[in-house]
Amino acid sequence: MPSTRLANLIDGRLQAPRDNRWLDIYEPATGAVFAHCPDSGAADVEAAALAAQQAAPAWAATPADERARLLHRLADLIEARLDEFAELESRDSGKPVALARRLDIPRAVSNLRFFAAAIMAWDSESHAMESGAINYTLRRPLGAVGCISPWNLPLYLFTWKIAPALAAGNTVVAKPSEVTPCTAALLGELSIEAGFPPGVLNIVQGRGPTTGQAIVEHPAIKAVSFTGSTRTGASIATTAAPQFKKVSLELGGKNPAIVFADADLSEQNLDTIVRSGFANQGEICLCGSRLLVQRAIYASFRERYLARVKALQVGDPHDAATDLGALVSREHFDKVMSCIAKARDEGGQVLTGGDAVSLQGRCAEGWFVAPTVIDGLANDTATNQQEIFGPVVTLIPFDDEADAVAIANGTSYGLAASLWTTDLSRAHRLGAQLEFGIVWINCWLLRDLRTPFGGSKQSGVGREGGAEALRFFTEPRNICIRY
Ligand code: NAD
Repeated sequence: MPSTRLANLIDGRLQAPRDNRWLDIYEPATGAVFAHCPDSGAADVEAAALAAQQAAPAWAATPADERARLLHRLADLIEARLDEFAELESRDSGKPVALARRLDIPRAVSNLRFFAAAIMAWDSESHAMESGAINYTLRRPLGAVGCISPWNLPLYLFTWKIAPALAAGNTVVAKPSEVTPCTAALLGELSIEAGFPPGVLNIVQGRGPTTGQAIVEHPAIKAVSFTGSTRTGASIATTAAPQFKKVSLELGGKNPAIVFADADLSEQNLDTIVRSGFANQGEICLCGSRLLVQRAIYASFRERYLARVKALQVGDPHDAATDLGALVSREHFDKVMSCIAKARDEGGQVLTGGDAVSLQGRCAEGWFVAPTVIDGLANDTATNQQEIFGPVVTLIPFDDEADAVAIANGTSYGLAASLWTTDLSRAHRLGAQLEFGIVWINCWLLRDLRTPFGGSKQSGVGREGGAEALRFFTEPRNICIRY
């Protein structure tokens, strides 16, 4: 099959990059180039930002029900091509097709529908004063905003940003990751079919330090919603601060999953605990990469857990039996393998995995890593402090509640924790003590799109989801009337 060239979407038209530079896009399962993506420069971003700026007043004045109608239409168009999107997402990112079909693409559709509905139900506050005045709050869209997303859940996170931005009446200059640009490009094509006016949604493909940086720097871009690494988040915050741009930063994590001796370790719950470490090859910011287990059940739990992890199938993302596909890039594969080597250097004992997996046939050159479980490392080792973002889980014993909280909180990150216990009081107590933006109790990745989503400490600034996202993408104005 000949490789395809993706296009930018600028001012309602699909366009090649102005200086005709292109990036190779690889299929992680085969290691082969299958597409080319614009390596956009500042001139492309300039054109997109101006188009967004010009389209902003009319889009802000468009009634909410019309904005919602267009978002629903886009959702319908994506859903109608769900299989095609799932295939493409898998091909681009290495994840199992079945996972993209079950999780990524349906969630992208839900994101669009959710914010289409949310904007219709969104109301503003009013505050009456006994002294004879009434205040009410107007929430105005910001204008043109930037949305920058990562490679791990490409369409899922791309839509999680553009949907609230558009619903709230902003125009958008968006950039998906240059590692996984394909599904956003297809969404761009469908947005024309859906009928979005030119300039309302612009998608500029390219690399972070050039295209992404130009979006963040551009004076017409009033706010930046970013999901990605903590390092890039710091760079974006530094660029945005002198222009006083609003930023929402969803960054990395080193999440604990905490299993108490009183946990209900049914087969189903054990499966969820395994999934919480290895879903999407461990490339989910919410994955529990530090598995804290109470000492009283440590040995028996480890045995049951390992048996399950060993049963996970690493394979061709097309194969329905595959649990883990390929890691997203050669670079990321090398990073994960070096983290495993580092864990060994630190004295960690690899209980299972620890190696690359060589497959036969079309996947012989793909970037596959065996699900890896490591024991025997203290919480302050680099392995337990630094985000690996791959199929690597460390086991850490703890004695009691206080010990569990100290280990769990003993990281510079604060994104998500999961807690397994049947003691209701303990669940509430720890829910309040764990310094994470999300605490799941007896579940993992159970998402209600109305809830605040995000992290504390080095996991980010601000919250997405529900009204939080609509607030981020609007500027409040207090009107005070004396009567
Ligand atoms: P990354 O920071 O390398 O890139 C993310 C996006 O930012 C990409 O589109 C990239 O091109 C762009 N970018 C890079 N440098 C930029 C710059 N200087 N200016 C503007 N844009 C720039 O992250 P990644 O490797 O794509 O994704 C993995 C990371 O994302 C992990 O750390 C993971 O934890 C994090 N993540 C966080 C969440 C969350 O919700 N908190 C969700 C998913 C992923």
